[in-house]
Amino acid sequence: MRKPFIAGNWKMFKTSKEAAAFADEFKKLYEASDVQVAICAPYTQLETLVKAFRGTGIRVGAQNMHFEESGAFTGEISADMLTEIGIDYCIIGHSERRQYFGETDETVNKKLHKAFEHDILPILCVGEVLAQRDAGEALDVVALQVKKAFSGLTAGQAEKVTVAYEPVWAIGTGRTATPEQADEMCGHIRRTIAELYSEELAENVVIQYGGSVKPANASELMNMYEIDGALVGGASLKPEDFIQIINF
Ligand code: PGA
Repeated sequence: MRKPFIAGNWKMFKTSKEAAAFADEFKKLYEASDVQVAICAPYTQLETLVKAFRGTGIRVGAQNMHFEESGAFTGEISADMLTEIGIDYCIIGHSERRQYFGETDETVNKKLHKAFEHDILPILCVGEVLAQRDAGEALDVVALQVKKAFSGLTAGQAEKVTVAYEPVWAIGTGRTATPEQADEMCGHIRRTIAELYSEELAENVVIQYGGSVKPANASELMNMYEIDGALVGGASLKPEDFIQIINF
């Protein structure tokens, strides 16, 4: 049985002071439920959030990590550095990293392997750009991203990947995929994982939708059969908005 999982992605927003203020406010509003909650924050806010959320059940994640153990990689952060802080999750392969920072299916795959070596739970982002959707290629593009990302993962690891389907044309644009479009793609992702492993395993994989999720559209998205959660950007920055999404 899959549990709903709502994760916030703060991107490059909030200072540590602002993160602490968010945590104070958020803890007042938050009531533990069956919904798993995580906030993926910039590196410098992670320690603040881990401390603030200790004992609440709210998890913390990073937004990226390097695929090597350590080395001469100026500006990068290793899995070890993250686990030392006490994070649980790491977003891997967000479209903004693919688009602006040279992330490829190959580096995404390496990062998934490294994350599992360190018991970090990956939130793997996949999604097509508008031209691919308009050309009718979206299903194939996303299936290929999934296959390349999962390459070499054991069944035990594959089952622990959270997949976030984020159509690039819906991120930060205010344009949400319809619940039917999102559900169709999440189902397609699940069938792709079933082909790689088994139907039973694929049934256990948590698949989120991301792209302009807001309090106003969270419940209709979350009520779709194949959509188990949401990866929330802009609307995760305000405690009241994020709480409303969690309480969809
Ligand atoms: P958005 O971002 O909710 O602001 O569209 C989603 C994401 O990029 O994860």
